[in-house]
Amino acid sequence: MNKNAIQEIMFAQKAEKALFEQAKRYAFDYMDGVEDRPVYPDDTAVDNLTAFEHPLPDAPTPGKEILEKLHSLGSPATVAQTTGRYFGFVNGNAVPTAVAARWLSDVWDQNPALHVISPIVAKLEQMSEQWSRELLGLPEQTVAGIVSGTSIATMCGLAAGRYDLLKNQGWDVNEDGLFGAPEIRVVVSEQAHGTVFKALALLGLGKNRVELVPSDEQGRLDASQIPELDSKTLVILQAGHVSTGAFDDFETICKKANEAEAWVHIDGAFGLWAAASPKLNYLTKGIELADSWSVDGHKTLNTPYDCALVLCKDRDALAASMQASGAYIQWGEQRDSMLFTPDMSRRARAVELWATLLALGKDGLAEMIEEFWKRAVQFSEQLSEHGFNVRNDVVFNQVLVQCDSAEETAVTLQNIQSSGECWCGGTTWNGEPAIRISVCSWSTTEEDVNRSVAAFVKARPVSQSH
Ligand SMILES: *Cc1c(COP(=O)(O)O)cnc(C)c1O
Repeated sequence: MNKNAIQEIMFAQKAEKALFEQAKRYAFDYMDGVEDRPVYPDDTAVDNLTAFEHPLPDAPTPGKEILEKLHSLGSPATVAQTTGRYFGFVNGNAVPTAVAARWLSDVWDQNPALHVISPIVAKLEQMSEQWSRELLGLPEQTVAGIVSGTSIATMCGLAAGRYDLLKNQGWDVNEDGLFGAPEIRVVVSEQAHGTVFKALALLGLGKNRVELVPSDEQGRLDASQIPELDSKTLVILQAGHVSTGAFDDFETICKKANEAEAWVHIDGAFGLWAAASPKLNYLTKGIELADSWSVDGHKTLNTPYDCALVLCKDRDALAASMQASGAYIQWGEQRDSMLFTPDMSRRARAVELWATLLALGKDGLAEMIEEFWKRAVQFSEQLSEHGFNVRNDVVFNQVLVQCDSAEETAVTLQNIQSSGECWCGGTTWNGEPAIRISVCSWSTTEEDVNRSVAAFVKARPVSQSH
């Protein structure tokens, strides 16, 4: 035995497995209790987090104590987004099989950068790429990178577009950078997601030098106001507006762009999966005419967090933009996934992406997506009956609500958020506060919506209630 002190501890932890049993007990305890607790943590739970503020000790802390602390103080301070009554932001709820698969893969601790580093994860990535492409109805040559979220996926898609447009003008942006490069134009909706502008900033394309296209009352880019396009233009469209759930007119705009040889990227963070539903795929008509797409796993697909896809019709453009080199990076004959991602080492996200798709199947996925829509429609109908003003056409999973005055909306939202019954976020719409409801949890039932509508009614200031 020539182990050092910290090795002794860790070998013993692995051999005994008591920590893993403990974690499993806590996880089951959490799952069983989550429906009976407030959807948002109460003030005491949040205040108790000061217990985490201390200097890092010199000596190792026993794992048992660490897990105890996480569960006793951490679990109560979580946002219960795995209930069916969390409607904040556009947050999904991981499907059980995917969470279980992720637990197993955490023990594997694989790095999917290259095929040679993990053949199993490379295989799961290959299948996830193929199945996603088919579910979304994208061209056969489309390749995918599995990244942390749509923010990064969008950046990758736009990087591929930037590369391609400049290459066609005889400029290699990866080798020679942007200084002195021919100019490229960016045409984007004034209603594009904030992360699109962040990606443009990161790519040196600037947030302010874009051509903003006006939008209609649903937040859709107004196709009749698209400027003249050319082969130096990057066009960015959206499948699923964060407040209204609205979809741009892909068919019309992509046809125009294709004639002009512009590059089209679609930000479809949560909306793109509408393509997997026979009832809702009219919303995504024409997406296959674009060049690149970004879509989350962790929103409407309900994978665990930290999972998204950048898809690109032009393998070479994406690979050229993401490729790294180094003496020890050995590109193989097989699919090396870091060809399509900005990062090299990363978590094996394909495990839960693959497991989610398989656990749902084509029909289950369609059913899940359609249920989001049905529950959103239920929400909007019941809220309207109770005198709330629904501001959007509920075509997908988002409902945008206002009361009769800005003040009433603000107070109502505050009361909803502190009710513990459900949780919704706020936004501004046409200059006034609004309540945003996003249905994207597999576990939201008709009863959850009934209960949440009751919470809305109760939250309205008494003097103005209907
Ligand atoms: C959530 C969202 C993003 C950002 O995605 P992340 O996964 O949070 O990085 C981009 N665009 C839209 C439309 C979104 O809803």
